[in-house]
Amino acid sequence: MARNLTPKCRQCRREGEKLFLKGEKCFSDKCAIERRNYPPGQHGQKKSRQSDYAVQLREKQKIRRIYGLLERQFRRAYHQADRHKGVTGENLLQILESRLDNVAFNMGFGASRAESRQVVKHNAILVNGVKVNIPSFQVSPGDKIQVADHAKNHLRIKASTEIAKRRNYPVWMDVDSQNLSGIYKSRPDRSDLSSTINESLVVELYSK
Ligand code: SF4
Repeated sequence: MARNLTPKCRQCRREGEKLFLKGEKCFSDKCAIERRNYPPGQHGQKKSRQSDYAVQLREKQKIRRIYGLLERQFRRAYHQADRHKGVTGENLLQILESRLDNVAFNMGFGASRAESRQVVKHNAILVNGVKVNIPSFQVSPGDKIQVADHAKNHLRIKASTEIAKRRNYPVWMDVDSQNLSGIYKSRPDRSDLSSTINESLVVELYSK
Protein backbone atom coordinates (compact mmCIF):
# COMPACT_ATOMS: atom_id res chain seq x y z
CA MET A 1 0.00 0.00 0.00
CA ALA A 2 1.17 3.53 -0.74
CA ARG A 3 2.70 5.44 2.15
CA ASN A 4 3.78 8.98 2.77
CA LEU A 5 7.56 8.77 2.98
CA THR A 6 8.22 12.45 3.74
CA PRO A 7 10.10 12.69 7.05
CA LYS A 8 7.66 13.55 9.82
CA CYS A 9 9.48 16.57 11.24
CA ARG A 10 9.78 17.95 7.72
CA GLN A 11 6.00 17.76 7.41
CA CYS A 12 5.61 19.82 10.59
CA ARG A 13 8.12 22.39 9.38
CA ARG A 14 6.26 22.70 6.09
CA GLU A 15 3.03 23.48 7.98
CA GLY A 16 4.82 25.74 10.46
CA GLU A 17 3.46 24.08 13.58
CA LYS A 18 3.75 20.99 15.71
CA LEU A 19 1.59 18.19 14.30
CA PHE A 20 2.74 15.69 16.96
CA LEU A 21 3.67 12.91 14.53
CA LYS A 22 6.52 11.32 16.48
CA GLY A 23 5.34 10.50 19.96
CA GLU A 24 7.54 11.48 22.88
CA LYS A 25 10.08 13.43 20.81
CA CYS A 26 7.36 15.99 20.05
CA PHE A 27 7.29 16.99 23.72
CA SER A 28 11.04 17.35 24.03
CA ASP A 29 13.45 20.10 23.01
CA LYS A 30 14.64 17.83 20.18
CA CYS A 31 11.48 18.77 18.27
CA ALA A 32 12.46 20.27 14.91
CA ILE A 33 9.86 23.03 15.26
CA GLU A 34 11.57 24.18 18.46
CA ARG A 35 14.91 24.30 16.70
CA ARG A 36 14.15 25.38 13.11
CA ASN A 37 10.68 26.82 12.80
CA TYR A 38 10.79 27.67 9.11
CA PRO A 39 9.79 25.66 6.02
CA PRO A 40 12.33 23.10 4.76
CA GLY A 41 14.33 23.63 1.59
CA GLN A 42 16.67 26.19 0.11
CA HIS A 43 14.05 28.98 0.08
CA GLY A 44 12.48 28.06 3.39
CA GLN A 45 13.46 31.24 5.18
CA LYS A 46 12.20 33.58 2.46
CA LYS A 47 9.06 35.53 3.30
CA SER A 48 6.33 35.34 0.65
CA ARG A 49 2.66 36.28 0.57
CA GLN A 50 0.29 33.33 0.27
CA SER A 51 -2.68 33.34 -2.10
CA ASP A 52 -6.12 32.27 -0.82
CA TYR A 53 -5.66 28.98 -2.65
CA ALA A 54 -2.29 28.41 -0.95
CA VAL A 55 -3.83 29.07 2.49
CA GLN A 56 -6.63 26.56 1.81
CA LEU A 57 -4.21 24.00 0.42
CA ARG A 58 -1.85 24.28 3.39
CA GLU A 59 -4.74 23.84 5.85
CA LYS A 60 -5.94 20.75 4.01
CA GLN A 61 -2.42 19.32 3.94
CA LYS A 62 -2.01 20.04 7.65
CA ILE A 63 -5.18 18.18 8.66
CA ARG A 64 -4.35 15.32 6.30
CA ARG A 65 -0.89 15.02 7.82
CA ILE A 66 -2.15 15.17 11.40
CA TYR A 67 -4.34 12.13 10.74
CA GLY A 68 -1.73 10.48 8.50
CA LEU A 69 -3.92 10.06 5.42
CA LEU A 70 -3.03 10.04 1.75
CA GLU A 71 -4.90 12.42 -0.55
CA ARG A 72 -7.30 9.78 -1.83
CA GLN A 73 -8.22 8.58 1.67
CA PHE A 74 -8.72 12.16 2.83
CA ARG A 75 -10.90 13.06 -0.13
CA ARG A 76 -13.00 9.96 0.47
CA ALA A 77 -13.53 11.05 4.09
CA TYR A 78 -14.52 14.50 2.83
CA HIS A 79 -17.13 13.10 0.42
CA GLN A 80 -18.50 10.93 3.22
CA ALA A 81 -18.74 14.03 5.44
CA ASP A 82 -20.45 15.96 2.66
CA ARG A 83 -23.15 13.30 2.34
CA HIS A 84 -24.01 13.48 6.08
CA LYS A 85 -26.47 16.00 7.52
CA GLY A 86 -24.97 18.99 9.30
CA VAL A 87 -21.85 21.06 8.80
CA THR A 88 -19.47 19.33 6.39
CA GLY A 89 -16.29 20.54 8.07
CA GLU A 90 -17.39 19.32 11.50
CA ASN A 91 -18.58 16.02 10.03
CA LEU A 92 -15.15 15.61 8.45
CA LEU A 93 -13.36 16.09 11.76
CA GLN A 94 -15.73 13.66 13.47
CA ILE A 95 -15.09 11.03 10.79
CA LEU A 96 -11.33 11.48 11.19
CA GLU A 97 -11.57 11.37 14.98
CA SER A 98 -13.65 8.18 14.85
CA ARG A 99 -11.09 6.22 12.85
CA LEU A 100 -9.90 3.22 14.82
CA ASP A 101 -6.21 4.17 14.56
CA ASN A 102 -6.99 7.63 15.94
CA VAL A 103 -9.17 6.31 18.77
CA ALA A 104 -6.44 3.80 19.71
CA PHE A 105 -3.91 6.66 19.71
CA ASN A 106 -6.10 8.83 21.94
CA MET A 107 -6.58 5.92 24.33
CA GLY A 108 -2.80 5.57 24.53
CA PHE A 109 -2.33 2.29 22.66
CA GLY A 110 0.27 3.90 20.39
CA ALA A 111 2.69 6.77 20.93
CA SER A 112 1.62 8.40 17.66
CA ARG A 113 -1.15 7.86 15.13
CA ALA A 114 1.34 6.07 12.87
CA GLU A 115 2.28 3.69 15.68
CA SER A 116 -1.32 3.00 16.65
CA ARG A 117 -2.08 2.25 13.01
CA GLN A 118 0.62 -0.39 13.12
CA VAL A 119 -0.77 -1.74 16.39
CA VAL A 120 -4.21 -2.05 14.73
CA LYS A 121 -2.75 -3.75 11.65
CA HIS A 122 -0.93 -6.26 13.84
CA ASN A 123 -4.25 -7.57 15.18
CA ALA A 124 -3.66 -6.09 18.62
CA ILE A 125 -6.95 -4.20 18.96
CA LEU A 126 -10.43 -5.55 19.67
CA VAL A 127 -13.66 -3.61 19.10
CA ASN A 128 -16.49 -4.95 21.27
CA GLY A 129 -14.45 -8.13 21.73
CA VAL A 130 -13.88 -8.71 18.01
CA LYS A 131 -10.48 -8.35 16.35
CA VAL A 132 -10.43 -5.44 13.88
CA ASN A 133 -7.27 -4.75 11.87
CA ILE A 134 -8.56 -1.98 9.61
CA PRO A 135 -7.15 1.43 10.68
CA SER A 136 -9.95 3.36 8.92
CA PHE A 137 -12.70 1.39 10.71
CA GLN A 138 -15.27 3.87 12.08
CA VAL A 139 -15.75 3.49 15.81
CA SER A 140 -19.33 4.19 16.96
CA PRO A 141 -20.34 5.85 20.23
CA GLY A 142 -20.56 3.22 22.97
CA ASP A 143 -17.99 0.88 21.38
CA LYS A 144 -15.47 -0.76 23.68
CA ILE A 145 -11.88 -0.72 22.40
CA GLN A 146 -9.29 -2.92 24.08
CA VAL A 147 -5.83 -4.32 23.55
CA ALA A 148 -5.89 -8.05 22.75
CA ASP A 149 -4.45 -10.32 25.46
CA HIS A 150 -1.49 -11.39 23.32
CA ALA A 151 -0.36 -7.73 22.98
CA LYS A 152 -0.89 -6.51 26.54
CA ASN A 153 2.74 -7.05 27.49
CA HIS A 154 4.22 -5.35 24.43
CA LEU A 155 6.71 -2.79 25.67
CA ARG A 156 5.75 -0.10 23.19
CA ILE A 157 2.08 -0.32 24.16
CA LYS A 158 3.01 -0.03 27.84
CA ALA A 159 5.29 2.95 27.11
CA SER A 160 2.57 4.64 25.03
CA THR A 161 0.05 4.21 27.84
CA GLU A 162 2.40 6.04 30.21
CA ILE A 163 2.84 8.91 27.74
CA ALA A 164 -0.94 9.15 27.21
CA LYS A 165 -1.58 9.32 30.95
CA ARG A 166 0.67 12.38 31.13
CA ARG A 167 -1.08 14.17 28.24
CA ASN A 168 -4.62 13.48 29.62
CA TYR A 169 -7.36 11.59 27.82
CA PRO A 170 -9.98 13.34 25.68
CA VAL A 171 -13.28 13.98 27.44
CA TRP A 172 -15.27 11.95 24.89
CA MET A 173 -13.70 8.67 25.96
CA ASP A 174 -13.42 6.70 29.19
CA VAL A 175 -10.07 4.96 29.42
CA ASP A 176 -9.05 2.20 31.82
CA SER A 177 -5.28 2.31 31.48
CA GLN A 178 -4.82 -0.63 33.90
CA ASN A 179 -6.79 -3.00 31.69
CA LEU A 180 -5.78 -1.32 28.42
CA SER A 181 -9.34 -0.70 27.37
CA GLY A 182 -11.69 2.21 26.87
CA ILE A 183 -15.17 3.27 25.84
CA TYR A 184 -15.68 5.71 23.00
CA LYS A 185 -18.54 7.57 24.69
CA SER A 186 -19.52 9.95 21.92
CA ARG A 187 -18.22 11.74 18.87
CA PRO A 188 -16.32 14.87 19.91
CA ASP A 189 -17.98 18.28 19.74
CA ARG A 190 -16.18 20.84 17.64
CA SER A 191 -15.40 22.84 20.78
CA ASP A 192 -13.51 19.82 22.20
CA LEU A 193 -11.15 19.68 19.22
CA SER A 194 -8.10 21.77 18.41
CA SER A 195 -8.82 25.42 17.70
CA THR A 196 -5.75 25.64 15.46
CA ILE A 197 -7.57 23.59 12.80
CA ASN A 198 -9.70 25.52 10.33
CA GLU A 199 -11.74 22.85 8.56
CA SER A 200 -13.85 25.39 6.67
CA LEU A 201 -10.80 26.10 4.47
CA VAL A 202 -10.85 22.44 3.40
CA VAL A 203 -14.52 22.75 2.48
CA GLU A 204 -13.76 25.90 0.48
CA LEU A 205 -10.91 24.13 -1.31
CA TYR A 206 -12.86 21.02 -2.22
CA SER A 207 -16.02 22.94 -3.16
CA LYS A 208 -14.32 24.72 -6.07
FE1 SF4 B 1 6.61 17.55 14.53
FE2 SF4 B 1 7.02 15.90 16.55
FE3 SF4 B 1 8.95 16.33 14.74
FE4 SF4 B 1 8.27 18.21 16.49
S1 SF4 B 1 9.19 16.22 16.93
S2 SF4 B 1 8.62 18.51 14.34
S3 SF4 B 1 6.05 17.92 16.65
S4 SF4 B 1 6.97 15.34 14.40
